[in-house]
Amino acid sequence: MISTFFQCIAGWMRRYEGVGRKLTDKCNCRREKVYSGIGGQAVLEGIMMKNSEKYAVAVRKPDGEIELLKEEYKNSELMKRLSGIPFVRGVFNFVDSLRLGMKCLNFSASFYEDEEETQMSESKEKLVNTLVMVVSFALAIGIFIVLPYFLSSLFKKLITNSTVIVLLEGVIRIGIFLGYVSLISLLEDIRRLYQYHGAEHKCINCLEHGKPLTVENVKESSRLHKRCGTSFIFFVMLVSIVLFFFIRVDNVLMKVGLRLLLLPVVAGISYEIIRLAGRSENVLVKIISAPGMLIQRMTTKEPDEKMIEVAIAAVEAVFDWHHFLQEAFGIVCEDQPVRKEEMEASSDGKADESDL
Ligand SMILES: [Zn+2]
Repeated sequence: MISTFFQCIAGWMRRYEGVGRKLTDKCNCRREKVYSGIGGQAVLEGIMMKNSEKYAVAVRKPDGEIELLKEEYKNSELMKRLSGIPFVRGVFNFVDSLRLGMKCLNFSASFYEDEEETQMSESKEKLVNTLVMVVSFALAIGIFIVLPYFLSSLFKKLITNSTVIVLLEGVIRIGIFLGYVSLISLLEDIRRLYQYHGAEHKCINCLEHGKPLTVENVKESSRLHKRCGTSFIFFVMLVSIVLFFFIRVDNVLMKVGLRLLLLPVVAGISYEIIRLAGRSENVLVKIISAPGMLIQRMTTKEPDEKMIEVAIAAVEAVFDWHHFLQEAFGIVCEDQPVRKEEMEASSDGKADESDL
């Protein structure tokens, strides 16, 4: 239960991988980076990959087999319309990704439930899940929004400049976030979740750099990606520093309340920034993406080959990478699958830790 709770909060960090779009018009440029448009999320002992309206969850079951769930993800007409409106779409996409993320996390967790939990009736399980969501959300708001505000106000006697206090609040928030991310990595489940997160990025990077999706190529690819949810959270913290400057009321309740009310605005703006960052190789974009990429070194870890195999299974369930490589890079791959043989051939190799 406790790890489900942490995964719930951790899961929020990783659902923005898919917000960039395809740039297939660059198909003549060989070996240049081309965005695939696929995104994903790490789940318990597995990976969820999403490609437009299709998504798949691949989970390594306790018996060692990979279980694959493949489904369509249909957005309602209202959602489709809302997702076309800049600044509004970020909020709805965020809520939407939480819902899908939770569903996939539950699917993966169902293979690892202990007996006590399996005996729960379906309605009771739903109630528990909702409770976990609500408690996680309330705690996240308390820890990342309200606490930094109160901690920074402790310095008001020492620092009279309100601009410095708002800046300090932002710094404390980033500090708490970094502390949280590294602290939960001490949990075995979360450490493995970070490894699967790394596997997910590595698969996407492998394809977007024009390499066939094999275990060896995935291992060599970077585990950092500009469109990552970790980077999104970092942008949220940066944007909130700027927006919270404008809260000029004296009442403490009003101050906290306005911070909460501004959250959708913060999320909306951050979403637009990460969308832009995912599409551009501009120097300025690289500079603002750098801190998020640095934090990804904490939220991703080098996966082992078995994890990479799971990630590849999830990608292949929703994405025709042979076609993508041919269209975007002009690479024609020989007929696959080669995964199994390759796994055997490279099973004594160690995971590449050079990115750490
Ligand atoms: Zn990510």
